[in-house]
Amino acid sequence: MITFKKTEWQSYLMQRDASHTRPSAPGDLICALGEIRWDPLLGYTVRITVKRRGQWDEDTELPDISRQVSNRATCPFCEPLFSSVVPGFFPTFSPTVHIQIGEAICFPNRYPYGTYSAVVIFSKDKHFISIGDFTPQDYRPAFDASLTYLSKVLDEDNQAHYQAITQNHLPSSGGSLIHPHLQVNADSVPTNFHTIMERALKAYAAESSSHYFHDLINEERNGDRQIADREHTFWLVPFAPAGQREVLGIIKNVSSLFDLSESAWEEIMAGIIAVQKFYRSLGVNSFNCALYNFPDPEGYYNVIVRMMTRSNYQPYPRNDMTYRETMLWEPSIEYYPEDMAQALKPYFVD
Ligand SMILES: [Zn+2]
Repeated sequence: MITFKKTEWQSYLMQRDASHTRPSAPGDLICALGEIRWDPLLGYTVRITVKRRGQWDEDTELPDISRQVSNRATCPFCEPLFSSVVPGFFPTFSPTVHIQIGEAICFPNRYPYGTYSAVVIFSKDKHFISIGDFTPQDYRPAFDASLTYLSKVLDEDNQAHYQAITQNHLPSSGGSLIHPHLQVNADSVPTNFHTIMERALKAYAAESSSHYFHDLINEERNGDRQIADREHTFWLVPFAPAGQREVLGIIKNVSSLFDLSESAWEEIMAGIIAVQKFYRSLGVNSFNCALYNFPDPEGYYNVIVRMMTRSNYQPYPRNDMTYRETMLWEPSIEYYPEDMAQALKPYFVD
């Protein structure tokens, strides 16, 4: 049984200026409304603070980053630098110096996060892909190269089964380079996300004799937060988003990235691209994306894909993380998830 717990809050203040952004006059009493929501699985709290959104949704033009994009000569993921600076795998790990599938190339991260830390570029020739312009032909070989790498990792260390395929798109999302790429991670030591999710999913299964993601799909089906219900995937805006404009895709009845069918991958890629097109429609150019693997002998896990927007890559952006996220560890979400799901639905057209 999943509980969607929330409480509403009110904050009263007196208007002192004749701000044109509010339909009120000096001296008017203003009541700001919001909510505190509890994540139904993990229990963390989120503040819904739509009044703070301010100008976020007013400018839907993507920032002009043509100057930053043009600096290709210094990009290590483009030739001629690629051939001279990008590291290669040891022959004991891979018979080829890089793992190449189509135009996608996987290589060890020059600045690794752990024992197994790789980068996958979509293509040496694609120095910049704007949000929403990615295609399945970009993602499919890149995911294949990621899976080939993760499989080789498990051949070498069968305990490195806490895995993630992730994407920082543009430097404002944490990426050090504009050139589109994925980060591929595997470790025997779980990340905090893996630890917390694994513990909670197992506890849920033990307490309810049920499966959290199956139950979540059943609870959310045809509800206000559903975006799309497909043959292999279910897409929703989480009740308590952990980041701005978070989208969760649940892959039905599959618990490992290695077991996804071709048609499931097609739905995942179509979903990732549809969400990007929605983000772009809001004037947002930067996002994070992640797919996860867990050790799952008991089948408590579903493959999930998570996406969220980040501050725009542009001169002097307002960052999307405030003291609330960094110091209080409580996301402050500037929209109602139900409103976002309705706005996102048209991007999931068949
Ligand atoms: Zn490049």
